[in-house]
Amino acid sequence: MQSTSLYQYKYYDYRYEYDYVFTGAGAAGLSLLMRMLLSGKFRNKTFLLVDKDRKDQNDRTWCFWERGKGLFDEIVYKSWDDVWFHGQGFSKKFRISPYRYKMIRGIDFYNHCINYIKQQENVMILFEPIKRIINKDSYAALELENGEGYYAKEFMFNSILFEEPPKDDKTQTLLQHFKGWFIETEEPFFDPSASTLMDFRVSQERGTTFVYTMPIDERKALIEYTLFSESLLDNEVYEQGLHDYIRDFLKPGNYTITEKEFGVIPMTNHRFPAGEGRVVNIGMAGGQTKSSSGYTFQFIQRHSAEMLESMLVHGTPRTQLTHSGRFRFYDNVLLDVLTHKELSGAQVFTRLFRRNSAQRIFRFLDNDTMMVEELLLIGSLPTLPFLRAARRVL
Ligand SMILES: Cc1cc2nc3c(=O)[nH]c(=O)nc-3n(C[C@H](O)[C@H](O)[C@H](O)COP(=O)(O)OP(=O)(O)OC[C@H]3O[C@@H](n4cnc5c(N)ncnc54)[C@H](O)[C@@H]3O)c2cc1C
Repeated sequence: MQSTSLYQYKYYDYRYEYDYVFTGAGAAGLSLLMRMLLSGKFRNKTFLLVDKDRKDQNDRTWCFWERGKGLFDEIVYKSWDDVWFHGQGFSKKFRISPYRYKMIRGIDFYNHCINYIKQQENVMILFEPIKRIINKDSYAALELENGEGYYAKEFMFNSILFEEPPKDDKTQTLLQHFKGWFIETEEPFFDPSASTLMDFRVSQERGTTFVYTMPIDERKALIEYTLFSESLLDNEVYEQGLHDYIRDFLKPGNYTITEKEFGVIPMTNHRFPAGEGRVVNIGMAGGQTKSSSGYTFQFIQRHSAEMLESMLVHGTPRTQLTHSGRFRFYDNVLLDVLTHKELSGAQVFTRLFRRNSAQRIFRFLDNDTMMVEELLLIGSLPTLPFLRAARRVL
């Protein structure tokens, strides 16, 4: 259907026209919509939230570090003050205050947000697949697979990735892919006061490979087998990796697997378009994933808070690009080091954690460091491989 016919057909029917439209009800769409509603400044505005899924599955678990309180603290499933790092020949437990490492389960997040949103009279929720979005000067529109159209008079916040990063010479993309098992042991085994951020002691033959362990209590933990590499593996390889890790490193005795999750996060130097006109891209589709680490959840929170602030002060959600300037350069250099196998992720992260505090590394990965600290971090890494990568990036 052409955008013009869509426009002429339904534009004057108010049921199809909203002030703000959210395409995608995942981490980014729900975070921004919650912030806008909770601010109390949009009571006379209308909202439409559209997603193809009902968001009733526990399809992912978010882990992230945070200083102080966060907007979603009441649904934090578990948090830790201490984290372990294990590299080749180096293991250390880090006290991370003023940060806490937090875990939010996808299903708790969706339920929490959607239950609140459903109580708001000015928000309509629609569970339908979207075919495309259309950007015009005076409005943005979306077309559903079933042919219906809806309009955003002010802004359309889009978190659907309609196009994958290109496969060309300029674009470097590594996949962060992981399989996680929630396990329950027969006997009390885990220390629930510390999680394992990265354990690189596993085989690195398929690319950068590490395991996280997030103990919920003495008998339950989420264990994720994670790789940074060009392509995905057969399911059995992740399963074997998890099995071997638990047998060789954790050794918890008998256990059962209670839940599984699988995910892929593209780590790429591609610049995701910020959107134009009335369309604002958010979340992964808006470039909120850090290309060198895959961390996204906290960047989404920061971006949402900044967009809200900008709407309240300037009337527009357009903010500065998140991963820009020198931090983008650092990310691209690290991505290049990993892609060209100048050094393995195990070598890079082990050097970083051996020679720096966890707090400094967190600030750096959050794009929050000052130049002096960045020099200290860079100084803890081997110079030549990074110089070669920097030359290629430049
Ligand atoms: C399993 C997994 C675990 C992760 N863990 C972490 C973590 O621990 N820490 C971290 O920082 N990041 C993590 N990430 C990365 C990132 O935080 C998440 O992917 C996050 O959900 C991204 O938010 P988003 O809103 O951009 O995308 P999503 O949350 O994926 O939301 C996009 C929404 O768009 C909907 N949609 C897609 N296509 C259509 C269509 N055609 N029509 C209608 N709706 C559509 C989808 O159903 C979805 O609800 C993880 C990712 C995955 C996949």
